[in-house]
Amino acid sequence: MKKLKDYTKEEWENICNNCGKCCLLKLQDAETDEIYYTNVVCKYFDTEKCLCTVYDKRCELVPECLQLTPENVDKIKWMPKTCAYRALFENFKNPVKTTIKGRCISENLVNPDNLEDYIVDWEDL
Ligand code: SF4
Ligand code: SF4
Repeated sequence: MKKLKDYTKEEWENICNNCGKCCLLKLQDAETDEIYYTNVVCKYFDTEKCLCTVYDKRCELVPECLQLTPENVDKIKWMPKTCAYRALFENFKNPVKTTIKGRCISENLVNPDNLEDYIVDWEDL
């Protein structure tokens, strides 16, 4: 079986199924460290096309935007359980693709102080 380090850059990029789930804003409980997903999505996410609009510049524009690599993919505990990279790393069959299209809201439209009101408990996160 192919090892993670053997993927070319292009092959690695193509693993992503553009579900958009990693672009959802998350809250972390300061005491327990538990991560809570919200259905609020990064302001650079096109909610109609379900795509990042600044992909090549994403790490400059959004410092907390994650760049997944073969080296860090096993260390990011909050990745959605249906993420295609996580499926690959954890060695299970790619889950049926579901996206955030039609069930997310841009952070541009939300008061950041009210983020807790948008916490979701979707089965595919
Ligand atoms: S910058 Fe792009 S890839 Fe990063 S969180 Fe925002 S929409 Fe997602
Ligand atoms: S959660 Fe995984 S598969 Fe979905 S967009 Fe993010 S990196 Fe790609």
